[in-house]
Amino acid sequence: MYEGDCLCGEIKVRVNCSIESFDMCFCNTCQKTHASAFTTGVSIKTEDFEIIKGKDSFSKYESSPGVFRWFCSNCGTHIYKTNDDKSHLVRLRPAILNNFDVTSVNRVLFEKNKPDWFLFDVRDSK
Ligand SMILES: [Zn+2]
Ligand SMILES: [Zn+2]
Repeated sequence: MYEGDCLCGEIKVRVNCSIESFDMCFCNTCQKTHASAFTTGVSIKTEDFEIIKGKDSFSKYESSPGVFRWFCSNCGTHIYKTNDDKSHLVRLRPAILNNFDVTSVNRVLFEKNKPDWFLFDVRDSK
């Protein structure tokens, strides 16, 4: 089980399943949303994902048709993404989990968009 929260603490979430690995995404949308070189992502079944505090504190942005990025209205932390075509899943940003200890990268998405200033080698760590 994992718990996570946003920067200001208004939103708290819980994951009630194990996480074996996560994805890194270097797409332009993730870079803008996170103001970073990449984001972390892991697909969690909706029944294993709980918002334990701050349901009313979410705002969402439709970054492409049917794809919504859910973030804290107060501090802007991006918590997860949903896709209307995959409504049984939430695409959680595991970097917000406070006890996240998974080191295995499942997939590196849009690696061609990796900026030159990102000086680290991205390798499958499995
Ligand atoms: Zn917040
Ligand atoms: Zn992306």
